[in-house]
Amino acid sequence: MKNYLPQRTITRLILIGVISTVLILPVGAFARTSSILVRLPGGNTGQLKTHSGLVELQSLIEAFDLRSSMDVLGERLDLVGSGGSCRLLLESPLVLSRGLFTVMSGPLVDLGGRLAMPADFLTKALPALTGRSSLLDAQVLTVGEAGSGNFKGQSPEDLPRFASFIRRDQYVPEEILKEPKGLSVVVLDPGHGGRSPGARGNTGTIEKDLVLSVAENLKTRLEEGLGIKVVLTRTADYYVGLKERTAIANNNRADLFLSIHANATFRRDIDGYETYYLSLKSTDSRARSYAEEENKALGVKGGKDDQALLEAILWDMAQTAYIQESSELASMVQKRLVGELRGRDRGVRQAPLAVLMGARMPAALAEIGYISNPEQEVRLNRKSHQDQIAAALYMAIEDYHRALLRGEIQRGPR
Ligand SMILES: [Zn+2]
Repeated sequence: MKNYLPQRTITRLILIGVISTVLILPVGAFARTSSILVRLPGGNTGQLKTHSGLVELQSLIEAFDLRSSMDVLGERLDLVGSGGSCRLLLESPLVLSRGLFTVMSGPLVDLGGRLAMPADFLTKALPALTGRSSLLDAQVLTVGEAGSGNFKGQSPEDLPRFASFIRRDQYVPEEILKEPKGLSVVVLDPGHGGRSPGARGNTGTIEKDLVLSVAENLKTRLEEGLGIKVVLTRTADYYVGLKERTAIANNNRADLFLSIHANATFRRDIDGYETYYLSLKSTDSRARSYAEEENKALGVKGGKDDQALLEAILWDMAQTAYIQESSELASMVQKRLVGELRGRDRGVRQAPLAVLMGARMPAALAEIGYISNPEQEVRLNRKSHQDQIAAALYMAIEDYHRALLRGEIQRGPR
């Protein structure tokens, strides 16, 4: 028996090797698309398409006869099945159902026009839609009888523990995050507008007009003083929804979001300034009733409405990662308002303000005075006072910008 091969055979083998590699390669790449067999009670079967280990949404919809809808911004996916509903957020691993949440091993992603999610969605969240138990073993999903399964989620109070999961843009190298960088884009949000007038003063001052004028003034100052890009969420008297406001900031990749409002109360002697940043809980009962009023004025259903609660939780998650920076921003804004305008210091407060919830950057809301206080209303109407307010807010944003450049502010994910 010869222990070597003739040269011609070797050449042939190499050729076969090369040809088969060329033939197998595309087959190998194609093999990333695979499927999961679904076994239903009564011997029925179905199939779920997977790609790189992710389950394609469309095949899930077909296999379980689900209804789906995506919000106008293309960020939120609602799924409804015969056993219930759930909500997912693009690029987030969170799934919400019945006021509870669960966290998948990875986010809902867009694979070139097709949405897909990690396979553990099938065991963690599918029972919320089908009301049936789900058992995944290798590439086989066994689904139980109707009523055999339910959604085992966690309560919203546990959300802060999961804040790091929602950090987007995780591919940004650590060194870049640590490199001191000032502000490049700021989004200013003049409160209300159009059918939402906001607070009204005794002599007819309307919050929506006042805050727009201050925001326009501040925009010019920031562009000229810091040379940065400034975008307003509205540039005239029209209504802008809450999600659109933060979406404008998110889409512009803003480094800072400042919402500008003016206050009113039935007690005419109350005046002064206050600045808010977001939390699920209010610092006190006044902050809570304030949040309810502002949210209501902006078209958010308050109270225990389940859908609103889910919404609030989801949108809050975006801001959770920036709470520390937002608190520092709010302190700087409050310090300048009180210091430059010499008004009563009503403090920095935390409240579940819907307008801040979706912001994926440090965000605060400034109350630039009480329209309901007759003396303050007169001042608020003066162009010179509006100038002073814009100057104070400019100084606060400049303080924040300088603190960023000095590396004094711990940056959240970007
Ligand atoms: Zn307002």
